[in-house]
Amino acid sequence: MSQPPGVPPDVPPDIPLEGLYGDLIMDHYRRPHNRVPLDVADIEAEEFNPFCGDRTILQLKLDGQGKVSGVSARSEGCSIIQAATSMLSDVLQGKSLCEVTELGERFRDSMYDRAPGNVDDTEGLGDLLALQVVRRYPVRIKCALLPLTALEEGIKAYRAKAH
Ligand code: ZN
Repeated sequence: MSQPPGVPPDVPPDIPLEGLYGDLIMDHYRRPHNRVPLDVADIEAEEFNPFCGDRTILQLKLDGQGKVSGVSARSEGCSIIQAATSMLSDVLQGKSLCEVTELGERFRDSMYDRAPGNVDDTEGLGDLLALQVVRRYPVRIKCALLPLTALEEGIKAYRAKAH
């Protein structure tokens, strides 16, 4: 994939992260999960946001039943992209691609406050729910959703190849 050379990282100041959700974001930022690259992956995707220098790389391995059996997630950039990539990587294991897609849609809804807010809408989102604090900073929502965009692009490319 293309690596735009010499893009100056014009990173806006990181948002103040307070409270329980803020702590959770900082935990993932400092100690991101599932960072070990996969040797062989069925789905691979990379997204880059030149505006703030965020980059995220996702890899998924599928088992014989089409369920996620391996996840690798790496990112660079601001605290939000790094936390979001780690959080997303945590909720994918064992899910079918349909379940992953559905979960992703609910995650995106939760970032735009479109969900009616009942328990079913947030079920399975895990630590991703903490990213709702980013809603107060609309320009940063893109940081939180970049790993999801990568995931969706990766699944789309995989399906195009498989059918
Ligand atoms: Zn960012």
